[in-house]
Amino acid sequence: MLLSIKVELIPNNKQVTQFRKACGVARHAYNWANALIKGVLVERETDKTVKLPSAIDLHKKLVSEVKSVNPWYYETNKNVPQQALKELRTAWDRCFKKVAKQPRFKKKGCKDSFYLESGSKAKPKINNDGKKVKLPSIGWVRLAEPLPVTATHNCVISRTAEKWFIAIKYEVEKPIVKADRSTVGVDIGIKELAVCSNGKVFKNPKAYRTGSKRMKRLQRSVSKKAIGSNNRKKAVSQLAKLHARIANIRKDAIHKLTTYLAKNHSIIKIEDLHVKAFLKNHKLAGAIADCGMYEFKRQLEYKTEKFSSQLVLVDRMFPSSQICSNCGNHRHKMPLKERVYVCPECGHVEDRDLNASKNIERWFEGIFVPVRSEVTSQTVSSTEIACGVDKPDSSHAVATLKQEVNTKTNHCPDKSR
Ligand SMILES: [Zn+2]
Repeated sequence: MLLSIKVELIPNNKQVTQFRKACGVARHAYNWANALIKGVLVERETDKTVKLPSAIDLHKKLVSEVKSVNPWYYETNKNVPQQALKELRTAWDRCFKKVAKQPRFKKKGCKDSFYLESGSKAKPKINNDGKKVKLPSIGWVRLAEPLPVTATHNCVISRTAEKWFIAIKYEVEKPIVKADRSTVGVDIGIKELAVCSNGKVFKNPKAYRTGSKRMKRLQRSVSKKAIGSNNRKKAVSQLAKLHARIANIRKDAIHKLTTYLAKNHSIIKIEDLHVKAFLKNHKLAGAIADCGMYEFKRQLEYKTEKFSSQLVLVDRMFPSSQICSNCGNHRHKMPLKERVYVCPECGHVEDRDLNASKNIERWFEGIFVPVRSEVTSQTVSSTEIACGVDKPDSSHAVATLKQEVNTKTNHCPDKSR
C-alpha cells in the first residue's frame, strides 16, 4: 500500500531562499487564479455563457499574462505554479459540490508549501540516498532523518516554524500481524485521551494547557511590538515554535495510541463523534481540541488498512455512557460531571469511561438499547446506599459519595450524552 512520510530537511541558506521563492510563486499563482475565478463567477451571474476556466486554461492564461510580466516566476520550477492552480481548481470543485467553503486567499507566511515533480509515475526521478534528496531545480538537500531509499515522482515541501519538511508517498508491504487479535472498544475521553475496553488507559498529554501560560506571554509580547519591526518578527517566530512544539506532543500521543490499537486488535470500535457539535460546548472545547479527534480518526483509518484490521464506527446516537456494561438492561442519564457509573439494577460500579468503552466494544447494528429510566442520580445513590450494606466495598462508598456531591452541584442534565 502507499503510505506517505514527512521528514525534516536541512537546507543551506541558498536553498532556504529558493524554498521561500517557490512558496511565494505558489501563493501568487493561487491567489491570482482565485481572484480570476471569483471574477468569472460574478460575470456568470448575468451571462451564463461565460465558461469557468479549467486548471489547464488557468495555466495557459498564467503563462501568457502573468509569467511574462513577472520574470521571477522563471526562478522556480514550472511545476510549482502549475500545481498551485490544480489545487485551487480542486478547492473550487469541492466548493461547487458543497463539501467545502470557497477557497480563501493565501496569506504570506501562513502554511507555506510547494510541489515538485520529476519523471513520470512509471519512471520516478526524485532520488534519495537516505541522507540527501535530489530536488528538481534545487539540487541535493540534506535530510534530518533517513528517508526510505526509493525514487518518487513527486513531493511536497512545506515549512512549519522555520523548519522545512519534505513529504513523499512510497510503496510499503503490509506487516505480518498476529493471527489471534481481540476486538477493542475505545472511549475517547475528556479526562483521559482514551480508555480501552480491556482496561488500558491512555493519558491526555494536556500539551495545550501546560503550554498555555507561555503561549499567553508570547502572544502578549508579539502584540506589544511594532508591526514590521525585527523584534516582532523574532517574537512571532518564537510563538510559532511553541505552537509547533505543542502540536508535536499531541501528534506523538495520538500516534502511539492509534498504532497500539491498529496493531494489536482485529476490530477497533470507536464512537463516530461529531467534533463540531462537541466544540460548541465551551466547557469541553479545550480538552477536545487538545486531543485532536479528527486526526485520531484519520490515523486509525490508514493504520487499520496497514495492519489489516477493521475500523468500526459506532452509531453516534448509541448512548454508550448511559447503559450498564454488566447487565446491559439498565440505562440512566449520566451528566458529564459524574465520573462513576452506578447501576441500580445489578449494583455494578465502574469508571464512567471504562463502562462506556465496554459498551462500545459490544455494539453492533441493531443492538438492544434499553429505555432510559427516569432514575435520577439521587435515587441511584440512595438505592446504592441501601444495598451497599450487603457488600462493603471502599471504592463503592467513594463512588456513592461522589454521586451525591454531583447531584447537589449539577443542575444541568442537558450535558449528558
Ligand atoms: Zn446493571
